[in-house]
Amino acid sequence: MSVTVVRTAAAMRALALGWRQAGQTVGVVPTMGALHAGHASLVRAARADCARVVVTIFVNPAQFDRAEDLARYPRTEAADLALLAPLGVDAVLAPPAAEVYPEGFATQVRVGGPADRLEGQHRPGHFDGVATVVTKLFGMTAAGRAYFGEKDWQQLQVVRRLAADLDLGVEVVACPTVREADGLALSSRNARLSPAARQVAAALPRVMSAVAAAIRAGMAVPGALAVGRQDLAAAGFEKVDYLELCDERTLEPLEAPRGGARLLAAAWAGGVRLIDNIAVAAAEPGARGRPAPSRSPGSISGMMKGRGAFPR
Ligand code: AMP
Repeated sequence: MSVTVVRTAAAMRALALGWRQAGQTVGVVPTMGALHAGHASLVRAARADCARVVVTIFVNPAQFDRAEDLARYPRTEAADLALLAPLGVDAVLAPPAAEVYPEGFATQVRVGGPADRLEGQHRPGHFDGVATVVTKLFGMTAAGRAYFGEKDWQQLQVVRRLAADLDLGVEVVACPTVREADGLALSSRNARLSPAARQVAAALPRVMSAVAAAIRAGMAVPGALAVGRQDLAAAGFEKVDYLELCDERTLEPLEAPRGGARLLAAAWAGGVRLIDNIAVAAAEPGARGRPAPSRSPGSISGMMKGRGAFPR
């Protein structure tokens, strides 16, 4: 099955407004291409819910804080279209940058709240760039629903806030993170990992699961996070941008676990920046106040061996 590719905002809007006028809900799946099974899971969710499904493929210059990252971002349109063909999408919107940001473009959406910390601090302007393009893509596609991955947890909260605050009339749907067999979250950037860095990368979900299990078991949060950072360094990560327990909606830091707590991390392996996140429920009944489990030599993973599956 071939896929209809749309290159202009006007053509997309005409197509989508026709669907809307016929009473059909449009589900949009915004992506930057280099598609993998994680993206495919979003498309399947949209396909199950919506009469019409549009996948957007646009490497958005406005959300890259480092020129080198933008230049190196994989662009694989032919393979992307081949991946989408059997999924039955109604259109792929893949506009050139000049179509999205024509000469004279002068408007930016500025997001706060959940955008302020973590990625917002480490990648200045990133979420404003995301919010601006997402607002435009929602408009171009006349979207009624939009599908985002939990892989980018903070982005998901920022987009939810954006849709609510600006009354965009779009229901934001969250889809679970798709992982490799060893737990590494699928990401377009994984293609840039050398074999050695790929080995290191697998430690991110492993250490995060162990930290989450330790916190659930009653270990004090600052101590668990400190050991987790040490473990990531020991596993070969050259830098840990953050490893934090946060409120899952506001992304405010938490000193103790409670309902809606989430562990989020960003770390560098072989020059590639990886992010991940995992739910951390409150301590098991009776666990809080219990003495923290003693550390086995060297690592929280050793300490919590066998306790946790990979992050969800
Ligand atoms: P990207 O192309 O990386 O901007 O991602 C496009 C969408 O796919 C975002 O909503 C991501 O959160 C989602 N996504 C990326 N990787 C995964 C994954 N491993 N599992 C689920 N969703 C993902």
